[in-house]
Parts: sequence; C-alpha cells; structure tokens
Amino acid sequence: AKKDAGWNFDNSYSRLPHFFYTKMNPTPVSAPKLVILNAPLGATLGLDEGALRSRDSLAIFAGNQVPDGGLSIAQAYAGHQFGQFNRLGDGRAHLLGEQLTPQGERVDIQLKGSGKTPYSRYLDGRAGLGPMLREYIISEAMFALGIPTTRSLAVVSTGETFLRETEQSGAILTRVAASHIRFATFQYASEFGTVDELRALADYTLARHFPEAMGAENRYLALLQEVIKRQAQLIAEWQLVGFVHGVMNTDNIAVSGETIDYGPCAFLDVYDSGTVFSSRDTEGRYAYGKQPDIAAWNLSRFAETLLPLLHEDAKQGAQVIADAIAHFFERYHTNWLTGMRFKLGIWKEEDGDESLIQELLHLMQTYRADYTNTFRALTLDKPEETFMNDKSDFRQWYERWQARLSNQHETKADSHQLMRKHNPAIIPRNHRVEEALTSAVIHEDYTVMERLLEVISNPFAYSPEQVDYISPADVTACAYRTFCGT
Ligand code: AMP
Ligand code: MG
Ligand code: MG
Repeated sequence: AKKDAGWNFDNSYSRLPHFFYTKMNPTPVSAPKLVILNAPLGATLGLDEGALRSRDSLAIFAGNQVPDGGLSIAQAYAGHQFGQFNRLGDGRAHLLGEQLTPQGERVDIQLKGSGKTPYSRYLDGRAGLGPMLREYIISEAMFALGIPTTRSLAVVSTGETFLRETEQSGAILTRVAASHIRFATFQYASEFGTVDELRALADYTLARHFPEAMGAENRYLALLQEVIKRQAQLIAEWQLVGFVHGVMNTDNIAVSGETIDYGPCAFLDVYDSGTVFSSRDTEGRYAYGKQPDIAAWNLSRFAETLLPLLHEDAKQGAQVIADAIAHFFERYHTNWLTGMRFKLGIWKEEDGDESLIQELLHLMQTYRADYTNTFRALTLDKPEETFMNDKSDFRQWYERWQARLSNQHETKADSHQLMRKHNPAIIPRNHRVEEALTSAVIHEDYTVMERLLEVISNPFAYSPEQVDYISPADVTACAYRTFCGT
C-alpha cells in the first residue's frame, strides 16, 4: 500500500462560482527530480519527511499525480501590470487544494511552473530552475525575518528544458500560502462578474482571513480596513529590512497580507531610495522608496472593487474609500516610525525622533553606506564599521543619537538588546544568492544553496559563522539586475 505523506485536503475555493477558476490538472513532466525539500515546513503542515521524499510525493510535486483529496484548478484574475489593466490568471500554476494542518490552519498548496492553462497567453506555462530556487531562498529568508510571506515546500527539476532568451532547465515550486486571493482576484470579479459573484468572493475572503470582521455593521468596510491594516504592516516591514519586491502589480499582492510572487526582488545593499533591481522596471515605478505609495495605489484599486458592496450611494462610497486610504498612510507611517525607533534602540517616541532617523538615512544615501551593515554596526556599538566615522556630519549625528539613548529610562544595554531584535545581521545578499543559484543550476551542486539557507534561517543570531555572509558585493547596487521568473 502506498504511504500518503499526510495530505489532508479541502477544496473550498472550488466551491466558489465556476467563474473564478478552471478545473484542470497540471501537465506531466518526463523526468522529475527532487532538488530541495523544506522538511521543517512539511512537519508544520502535518507531512512526513520520509514520505515527502518518496516517489509518490515526487509525482505530486512534479504535477504528474494529483494527491488524494486534492482538486487541481487554475485561478482567474485580472489586474494592473505596471499600471495597465489586463485579463490574467494562473498561466503556469495549479492549486492542488488547501491543506488543513494539525494546528487547525488552512493553507493553499500550489504548484508553480506546472504547465499551460487557459490563462497562459504567450508562454508555455513553465518556470526555470534558477527563478524557482530564487523564490525558495528569498521566501524562506523573509519567513526567518518574521515578515508575512508565502513559503516554499519543495522544488523539483522537471528533466525538460524550454527556450526563453536562452535554454532553461524546467522546475516546479510547491508553494504554501495563506491563500492565493489577490487584489486582482477582486478586480476580476468587479470587472467581469456579477455583484453576486463579487459578494461571494468577499464573503469567502472574510470567512477565510478575517472571520472576526464578519460581525461588523458593514462587513465589507471591515474587510477593506483589515486588508489596509495588513498592507500597512507588510510594507512597513519591507521598508525596515530594505526589501524591494520589484513587481508590485495588483496580481502580485495578496489580500492575506503575505508577500507573494517573488520575481525580480532583492534586498538593498547600499541605501538608496531610488533602488530598482528589476530589468523590466525601466521607469522605476517599483523603486524601494516608492513602495508605500504604490501600495496605496493598489489598495485604491482593491477598494474600488468593493464599491457596490460598501455603500448604496456611490459618492458616499468613494468618500469611505478615500478615508480608508488616508488611514493606510497614517498606519503605515506609525508602523515604520515605531520599527525605525526600535532599530535605533529608542523605546518611547519623542519629538525629534523622526528627524534623527531621516538624518541617518540621508547620511547613508550620501555616503553610499550599506543599509543592513550600518544598523548592524550601530547595534554592535562599533560606529567605525559604518565606514562613516571619519565624516563630521556622521559624528554629529552619532553624538546626537548617543544623547538620545542616554535620555531614556532603559539602560544602554537594554537598548542594544532591542536593536538586536530589530536589526538582522544577515539578509540574502544578491551576490550570495547568485552564487548559490549558479552552483545549483550550472553545476548541480546544491551545497552552496543549502549553506546559504542555513545562514539566512537565523538572521538575528549575530554569530561569528555568519561573518562571511555580511559583506556586500563588489559591484554597486545599480549594477545588479534581477530578471523576472519567466
Ligand atoms: P507575473 O509577472 O509573474 O506576475 O505573471 C503575470 C501573468 O503572466 C500571470 O497571469 C502569469 O500566470 C503569467 N505567466 C507568467 N509566466 C508564464 C509562463 N511561463 N507561461 C504562461 N503564463 C505565464
Ligand atoms: Mg503574478
Ligand atoms: Mg510571478
């Protein structure tokens, strides 16, 4: 008898109107091979590691076999890509179902790179090994940093190649997510569906992600407010660690508030608010410093979809939305300011804190200081490691900061403890990620990637073994380009 890994599926999304998805299986592949498995994540999902490494599980991760209880679908959506509205959908992904975990959670299990669907427009539904491993690494780094994110259970190579600019090795990522309901799912319902279909999606989302909001007087307003709250939290966390998503199209924003769709994303090395990594983002629409404004723009598109549910009177509905978006900026700013204070060891807010923070960012931008390492140096009380110690304006800032730290109830040691919790020593540095991918994809050597995964899984450890991983690349930030995962 075959030993099931412990799959415990429900398929609630498939009980939405058919309008929202297409039932179909992944396209089988010829020679799949498991190249990386996230056994600890599997365990939290109630899945047995031995069984996950078996041939039966390989067939599931490859899309060759739908697991018992699963029901494979591709989801429909439509949204703004670089400001342009397009009809979209899972063009290379299949949702196998929702795993009900031993902790009573419900998470999507999705294959990415699993073949064509009715929503693939120009391409073949496949994904490259490099980009899928990249998503695996960065999403696991985000998780370790404590930032809401989809996760990666496994990557299989398919044994097949396909052509893009160059020939690519195919791969399939098994992604675990709170859900795959995107802002663009709501835009699809709003643009192409009936009000009943829109309401079905909104009620489904409320029940799945915001059950406490279902009793609100206007539950659709409560839905909007909760989504805003989570975006305000998420984007603040991105800014605080220097994460640049790269493609904040409305199809790449999850209603759950998780980071999703890791394409040409990367972490800042040199601090520069204009940093763009994506080769596709020629206008800098999704630059680091623009992420909060873009989040608000995306939230406005999301909010507009709810208009028919929010208010009978469209004009009053529009006012409700405007107020909610204004609230996003307030919330975002409070989250950001609190996070920055903690990064500088400041316990309680005082006038002048924001200017202290802004001045440091300005110094970092002026002297092209490494974002993560500057905070690391301050955390370790080694100002010389900021490489700005010979600059008089930095010295003035430093004295002002020291005075601010002395002027609080908590001891300096307490403040440095606080800083340790909020300043990661380790981020997945671009050159380290590239090195791991090259080893894996070109030389089929996964040891470099495994070592990197180990180091980034403990970003706040400040341990001596990590020191090799803190140095920035020799190349300047603007020379680094990431390519989208197609
Ligand atoms: P993305 O830029 O990754 O957010 O993808 C935008 C849209 O293009 C989504 O609807 C994807 O499903 C689709 N897409 C991306 N890559 C492929 C591919 N290799 N084959 C078919 N569709 C794709
Ligand atoms: Mg997308
Ligand atoms: Mg993508």
